[in-house]
Formats: sequence, structure tokens, C-alpha cells
Amino acid sequence: MQIYAGLDVVTNKVTPSERRQCRHHFVGSVPPFHEYSVVEFRDAALPLIDRLRDDGKLPIVVGGTNYYIESLLWNILVDCRKEASREEASEQFDWLTRLPDDEIYAKLKEIDPDRAARLHPNDVRRIRRSLEVHAQCGRPHSDILAEQRKEAGGGAQGGGMRFPDATVFWLQCDYSVLDPRLDARVDEMIRGGLRDELHWLHRESANQPLAERTKGIFQAIGYKEFVPYLTCVDDGRESEAMFEACAEKLKSATKSYARKQTTWIRNRFLRRRGQAAPDVFGLDTSNVGEWDRVVLSRAIDVLVAKSSGEDPPVAPLDRLENAPETWTKHVCDICDGRVVHGDHEWTVHLASRGHQRRKRQRAKKAAREFARQQQERDA
Ligand SMILES: [Zn+2]
Repeated sequence: MQIYAGLDVVTNKVTPSERRQCRHHFVGSVPPFHEYSVVEFRDAALPLIDRLRDDGKLPIVVGGTNYYIESLLWNILVDCRKEASREEASEQFDWLTRLPDDEIYAKLKEIDPDRAARLHPNDVRRIRRSLEVHAQCGRPHSDILAEQRKEAGGGAQGGGMRFPDATVFWLQCDYSVLDPRLDARVDEMIRGGLRDELHWLHRESANQPLAERTKGIFQAIGYKEFVPYLTCVDDGRESEAMFEACAEKLKSATKSYARKQTTWIRNRFLRRRGQAAPDVFGLDTSNVGEWDRVVLSRAIDVLVAKSSGEDPPVAPLDRLENAPETWTKHVCDICDGRVVHGDHEWTVHLASRGHQRRKRQRAKKAAREFARQQQERDA
């Protein structure tokens, strides 16, 4: 979100003094109502990383949007734009953007059943992406993904690693310390002018087409939580209590986002199935007073050791076993072809009372049928 220009409080942007300490790229470089994509990010970031490395500099990628970081570390994205110009592509997608959410899954099932079987029917973002890939590349997304998996170092989640020497630092913090810190950050944002930015954003949203109001900067944590309050401001019905309630919602959304990031790192970095992955070093940020010793020096020691081909002074985090849940589709013959998505959900379904009851009924019916046939034969 820091990539968007303006709205420094909502996006919790690095401060000018922080930016003077070292060169930050891309901060505030995109107009707020442009919907920035992971493909655009990757296409801008990779040449920059190459240039910095050629200059003998160490590129540091900082962020919380882990999907964007993944697009740099692994060849996981599909891009057929080389074959079709942007304009051609946008004409092609016109039908797709007009297709309502409740019809896209059926469409995907029709043109790429393998991909559809792997996606949850409510996963609108991924479904749309797969339809887009099919339209752009003229062949099923599942075929392209299968090719990436066959690349050297490729695995269940995509193609091989781009930078075999990449190192990941995970800033970890105990939730009992992190939660109050996140609450304090929201209070700080409110003191720093969050309200003015939200009012501005809300007024601007009126000038944007309805479909655009959930994209780009409008997805920032902070805006959607305050929409109920901002809507009341429009009719002059707002109150301080309402503002407070939205601030509470923002606090809980921030905490839940932090937990999602943790899950993401576990599943996508530490538990990457059958695919090479960079070492992940945990750095404990619970005690800010110890920052230099526990976080900064340790990270530098690891990097210095790795760049001179020595063993790092601390061990990377252990890889986790167990593949993550995938949205595989199961069809239950016993329950009249009921569709169940996900391996875990399938296990639950098989153990459910309804399924067990139907299974027993079916077994009894089969036994009766068998007995009847026996009698007929004996007669
Ligand atoms: Zn069943």
C-alpha cells in the first residue's frame, strides 16, 4: 500500500527521515486510484534488483504483502502479455469484467476444469485470474502451472527460485507484545491525521466508478473499516461513538492481518511443498530496547557469513512438515453427488452424521437387494 502516492497516514508510509537513511524505491510512485498489480510490481522490481546487484549493492525487499515477495523469489506468475498488447488484452477482458461473481466459477469449470477443481468457488480473485490467463494465453491456466512445476526446483506452488542465495528475515513478535503495539499504532494514526485522509478518500470515491471503489487504495486496511462512519458523515448523522467503534474495528482488522501474515509465512515459506525455498531466519522484535543486538546485528552477521560462504552464526528456522490444505474437489456418490471442496472438509464430511446415515441406509438396501436376489435364485 505504501506504493500509492499521498495518504501517508492510511498507508503508514515510511517517514521522510527514514527515507533519508537509505534509498527507498517505489514508495508513493503509483497514483492512488490506479489498481496496481503483482505483475506490474514484479516487472518493475526484477530489473531494479538486477541493476543494484550489478552495482554491487544488496537489494532488500521489505514488506508485508507476501504474495508480492513470492513473485520475486519464485517464478510463480503467468504472463502472456508478450503475445498480446495491453489494449488487445483489455478488449478481451471486457466480457470478463462484466461477468458477475456468481457466474465466473461455472465459466472456469467449462474452460479449465482442472484449475476449477483446485479453487474454492468463493475465491473470486483467483478464479478471475485464471480466466484472465486463459483469455490472454489461449490455453488453460492449469497447463501453464503444470509446466512451471516441471522446471528445475519447481514444485506444487510454481516454478523454480530466481535467486538461490536469497535470505528471508522474519520479524517475529509475541502476540502479547504485538497486539498492544498494533493498537498503539492505530491511535498514533488517528492523532497523525487519519480522519482527514479518510474524509478525502471518501469524497474522492464518489468520483470513481462503483466497481473501482473496492480496488487499489480502497483496499487499504483503514478505509473500509471507516465506511459506516463516513457514510453517516454524508447525511450529517455521524457521532464520536461511531468513529470510536470504527477505530476498534480497524484495531481488530490490523491484528487479524498480522496473524494472516504469520500463517502465510508458515505455509508458503516454511512449508513449501517439493520446491526449493530460501532460508528463513527468525528475528525477535518483542523487545525494542534490544533491537541493535537481537535484530540488526544478528541479521548482519547472517548476511556477512552467507556472503563469504560460511555457516551463519544462528540456524535458520526449521522447515515444517505437512503439506498445506489444497482446495481439491471431492464428489460424494453416497450423498447424491454432493460436492465437497478441500481435503480437510472432505475428511469432516466422511465422518459426518448425514453421510454415515446414508452410508448405512445404502448398505442395508444393498443387503436387502442381495437377499432378495438369493431368494429368487433359490426359488
Ligand atoms: Zn457423503
